[in-house]
Amino acid sequence: MLKYRKNSVEYGAPIMTNNDWHARSAAETIASLSSTHTGLEPDEATRRLERFGHNRLPVASRDGWLRRFSRQFHNVLIYLLLGAATITALLDHWVDCGVIVSVVFINALIGVIQEGRAERALDAIRNMLSLNATVLRGGRRQEVPAHQLVTGDIVLLASGDKVPADLRLVEVRQLRIEEATLTGESEPVEKGVAAVDPQTVLGERACMAYSGTLVVYGQARGVVVAIGTATEIGHISSLIAGVGVLETPLLRQMTHFGKQLTTTILLLAGLTFAFGVWVHGYNWSDMFFAAVGLAVAAIPEGLPAVLTITLALGVQRMAKRSAIVRRLPAVESLGAVTTICSDKTGTLTKNEMTVQRVITASSIFEVSGIGYAPHGGFAIDGKETDFTEHPDTLDLFRAGLLCNDAALNEGEGHWHIAGDPTEGALIPLALKAGLDAALEHEELPRTDHIPFESEHRFMATLHHDHSGHAFIFVKGAVEQVLAMCNQQRGSGEDVTLDLPYWHAQMAETGARGQRVLALAMKSVEVDQRELRFADVEGGFTLLGMVGISDPPREEAISAVRDCKAAGIRVKMITGDHADTARAIAAQLGIGNGLALTGVELDAMDDEALRQAVRDVDVFARSSPEHKLRLVTAMQANGEVVAMTGDGVNDAPALKRADVGVAMGGKGTEAAKEAAEMVLADDNFASIAAAVEEGRTIYDNLKKSIVFILPTSGGEAAVIVAAILMGLTLPITPVQILWVNMVTAITLSLALAFESSERGVMCRAPQDPRAPLLDHFLLWRIVLVSALMVLGGVGFFLWELGRGASLEEARTVAVNALVMGEIFYLFNCRHLFESSFGVISFTQSRPVVLSIVIVVLLQLLFTYAPLMQHLFGTAAIESAAWWRILLFGGLVFGAVEMEKAGMRRWDRHRISRRSHN
Ligand code: ATP
Repeated sequence: MLKYRKNSVEYGAPIMTNNDWHARSAAETIASLSSTHTGLEPDEATRRLERFGHNRLPVASRDGWLRRFSRQFHNVLIYLLLGAATITALLDHWVDCGVIVSVVFINALIGVIQEGRAERALDAIRNMLSLNATVLRGGRRQEVPAHQLVTGDIVLLASGDKVPADLRLVEVRQLRIEEATLTGESEPVEKGVAAVDPQTVLGERACMAYSGTLVVYGQARGVVVAIGTATEIGHISSLIAGVGVLETPLLRQMTHFGKQLTTTILLLAGLTFAFGVWVHGYNWSDMFFAAVGLAVAAIPEGLPAVLTITLALGVQRMAKRSAIVRRLPAVESLGAVTTICSDKTGTLTKNEMTVQRVITASSIFEVSGIGYAPHGGFAIDGKETDFTEHPDTLDLFRAGLLCNDAALNEGEGHWHIAGDPTEGALIPLALKAGLDAALEHEELPRTDHIPFESEHRFMATLHHDHSGHAFIFVKGAVEQVLAMCNQQRGSGEDVTLDLPYWHAQMAETGARGQRVLALAMKSVEVDQRELRFADVEGGFTLLGMVGISDPPREEAISAVRDCKAAGIRVKMITGDHADTARAIAAQLGIGNGLALTGVELDAMDDEALRQAVRDVDVFARSSPEHKLRLVTAMQANGEVVAMTGDGVNDAPALKRADVGVAMGGKGTEAAKEAAEMVLADDNFASIAAAVEEGRTIYDNLKKSIVFILPTSGGEAAVIVAAILMGLTLPITPVQILWVNMVTAITLSLALAFESSERGVMCRAPQDPRAPLLDHFLLWRIVLVSALMVLGGVGFFLWELGRGASLEEARTVAVNALVMGEIFYLFNCRHLFESSFGVISFTQSRPVVLSIVIVVLLQLLFTYAPLMQHLFGTAAIESAAWWRILLFGGLVFGAVEMEKAGMRRWDRHRISRRSHN
């Protein structure tokens, strides 16, 4: 409120204790904010920005380093460890106590570091999702980041936009806004410009558009009356909602599992303690330390930290490849996607539209020229032609030029357009035909218009010339425009419409992969100043059609191929005509030549549709409602669906899809809000890249689990086995604590940094129903634990047998255990592929680095006198190292053999899927 009052004073408005912009007229509001209908001057906007700050809600302040560090101790496991440390201290076992405290400390440190990293990753993503606003400044329309809006700015709103600040509406066109964020009411409300009573409640202030609400229909213009914390949403929540906490179903599953595991391990440790004391008559204090060592070894303390960092790093990698994840669970769904449904225009194609054909009732012109440059000519049957010979075409070019909201600009030597590329393509066409754009706009100014919407597939404009004539121009999809026409432009005069001719031309042009637009016009009474839908129902004269090429993106062609190899089916859902859609799909390698149209889809019941989506990959003339039915049908068939969308009406389909993908460039805010992922570059190839990264993240999560659980299990199993067999402990509790501490900061972290495996896009999608903690993992835990027991206990007994001291035997056992883990880490670098080969051993810097550190620490552990004193170790002979290495090789070989078996099984699964 304070800020608002400050603004009012600054701009000469009377001081108000209440926010009552809704009770003032639009003109009064603009005047009191010292603005104009054409917006602020850019200099003034800059001045206000400097003086009053940015249109931002403050970000929740972060806890300090110390507080975050202390938070890491808030965990039952840590309490237990600290309890154990206290008891060891009371018993004067200072080394054990020191190591336990170090374990706790190091885990907390890793926790803080990973939290910071994860937060930074999410912050970067949040910045990439920042909002833009269209404003008028100095009479010019421009896009600015929403945080640069200032009070007095004139903002333009269109359907799908998120309102960027609190606005007093100045002009509206059928504006409907969904204000659920503010009022909780999900039904969109109709807006107007008339002032309302000062006492009107928020939800009924029809002349206001509030920050954070969504425009679901229509267009409007409004003046900014409040920004940042002074907005209504700022009053409710003064903090920005983040991208979300780092949590996914898998992580939740792991946390739950972790709790169960901890209980089980503590029970097991208790049982082992009891067994040792009562059955084998061990000293109870020795058994207490053994039980503590066992619990610390078996509980995977570091796992949650590793998983979170893996997720954060993966999400960051995805953002670098233009796929911005808004909701983290989507990362997992991405790895399981079996079908990607993509829009055509701009996602699979370049969205660089060039008119290549002009079809009139009497002639077909081929148009030359490249891109949006207004240079080129026209030819009929290969012979150049001059438009003075074809006066009947003039209105067609004029309609294209005037029924148009795009602008053509030249900059840095090349021509580009601002606005819709389909419309943009019509401007150079008119210029090539010799029209003067400025002159045409001056002679036939626009009085009103109906904007293009995918739902009605046409755009219409009303124009008045200066000599008492009025016209409506319309352009749009062929079916729509033909339905409005009863005659066509002939060489001399207008004649009856020849429908079969136009349908044949449509089919031929569409088959070339060109998007076809029809253009028409009609004269109306000069006193008509408004354009309504009833005005475009009939009575038009068809001027002709244009064929617009929009070539497929090269990278989309290869991405479609990659998806196929990865067992993912690509479907194209487009608003374009079936002929055009089929031709483009063929160029992209999508589908089998079959296409279904929206009308055909409407005629199907749900069961028929379920069957149809099994056979057909191309859906033409479809609207957002069709997308929703399609995704539902595919999901009913068991598919995991990623679906792209950009319009406000795509939101339900995006929400319904397993992974909703919105376009960052041409997508509306409504679509982005509904989506799990936003593509910064609107490119299909980025979806394929995101799937690849999604699979990689899932792999890395799995790799870390597959590494950490079995090695923890193995370490614990050595102690349990020794106690069960009534042996002297082959590894002392303090030694096991050391191993645990060393591997937690090195080997266990390494896999979070792995890049994609070579074959990641050559295998079947992850089965979403398969639990992560499956039989395979259980089996792996048993296998690795058995190998570790073999190494730990086996070496210990062997060394004792050949006359080594207890200290030497234990040192060899510990080193064997660590070596087994090092080699097993190489196994885990590739979950599926073979890990044999030099590349596999050297490629990953984090893995190599972590191994170097572990080896150095183990050498210290073995040879440094202080360490020998602290941990009861002893120097070992060099031959023992060879044996230890050999054991590492044995672990590696055994796990590789197991993996080979798994690969054979997976190949079988893929071939079964492709036969189905
Ligand atoms: P996709 O779904 O593949 O991205 P799209 O969204 O571009 O396709 P729409 O924009 O719904 O499809 O276009 C459908 C049809 O409407 C087009 O085939 C074209 O005939 C017509 N059309 C497209 N843009 C305009 C426009 N700006 N003005 C008039 N008609 C248009």
